Amino acid sequence: MAGKDEQPVTEAAGESRAYELFIGREALVERVQAIGGELTERFKDAPEPPILIAILKGSTMFLADLVRAMKIDAAIDFMAISSYSSNEATQVRIVKDLEHDILGRDVVIVEDIVDTGLTLTYLRRSLMEREPRSLRTVTLLDKSARRIVPVPVEHIGFDIPDVFVVGYGMDFQGRYRNAPDLYSVKDLARLANDPLMLVPALFPSVP
Ligand code: 5GP
Repeated sequence: MAGKDEQPVTEAAGESRAYELFIGREALVERVQAIGGELTERFKDAPEPPILIAILKGSTMFLADLVRAMKIDAAIDFMAISSYSSNEATQVRIVKDLEHDILGRDVVIVEDIVDTGLTLTYLRRSLMEREPRSLRTVTLLDKSARRIVPVPVEHIGFDIPDVFVVGYGMDFQGRYRNAPDLYSVKDLARLANDPLMLVPALFPSVP
């Protein structure tokens, strides 16, 4: 996935590669700029600025770059949801709700990753009940092959295979969100055993 001019992260000699650079910052910036252009075009004649809703916390870096890539005024707001599985059913609930009233407004859900689609399906239903003028979704990453529930996603940064990723807002146990590039973790069990495993590669100390 990394561009051909980007070097994969090297590891200590003798260690197998458990992770690698997946999408570098230049490629991220380029895609986010393009999506910012799409949203600008869509909403430039709208009666009111669109409200971009970032889902905490994974999409915060994406939101910050995306909203600045738009050439029109836009409002931002945040939601947090929690999901847990019980008896093979996944329950999703809102743990932080919007400050805006979205009635009659153009709304854009900003997601980091759409995976099974369960979270987005729940969010869309919840937001549609509030009768926005329009509702669209932009996701940086789409793991479309893993979808369980079909759900519309109007703007997609990258369609990616079934790999676990960290960086550019996305975490493992709360870590690695502030890495500017996106990394794929091939050996998740190894990272679970050693959650600090990626720190030396992602945050090499200043000599
Ligand atoms: P869904 O309900 O679509 O299965 O869940 C999507 C959410 O799962 C994303 O918003 C994200 O929080 C989390 N997620 C899915 N895949 C990954 C991944 O590869 N890395 C990280 N850090 N989170 C992921």
